[in-house]
Amino acid sequence: MRGDWAVFDIDGVLADVRHRLHHLRRRPKDWGAFFSAAADDPPLEEGLRLAREQATGHRLAYVTGRPEGLRTVTQNWLDAHRLPTGPLLMRSRRDHRPARVVKLELLVALSARAPIGLVVDDDPDVVDTLRRTGLTVQHARWVVREDVLRAAQDDEGRT
Ligand SMILES: [Mg+2]
Repeated sequence: MRGDWAVFDIDGVLADVRHRLHHLRRRPKDWGAFFSAAADDPPLEEGLRLAREQATGHRLAYVTGRPEGLRTVTQNWLDAHRLPTGPLLMRSRRDHRPARVVKLELLVALSARAPIGLVVDDDPDVVDTLRRTGLTVQHARWVVREDVLRAAQDDEGRT
């Protein structure tokens, strides 16, 4: 194996979830429809390019606030878009803590296997939290983050 980890978030970095946010603007929110549309997320070319670049000097890993129930659809999506192979770390079932808490814990676990060289994430709370621990974090800004997604990830701890 070569190098440190380059860790990529998925939603808002590699995958464009905007087409399914309307399911969360309904009352009540339709989480089932929101999650089942994940297979159709368009890829974000900036993120895919960066992941392929980083794979030349790093081992790739994916750390997402998506719940474990989406593992198969998420892994199939990564494979379909020819992303470099690497471990996929996800939110445990029934873990509804904010994304910044969940991701920090997943990264600590990952760092037991090799040092973390870079993290790429679009969530400002995650970026701040990880930077405060001394990690090198690239803040992905190629998608404007919508409030409904921020609430789903941080306040509700669902994805
Ligand atoms: Mg994200």
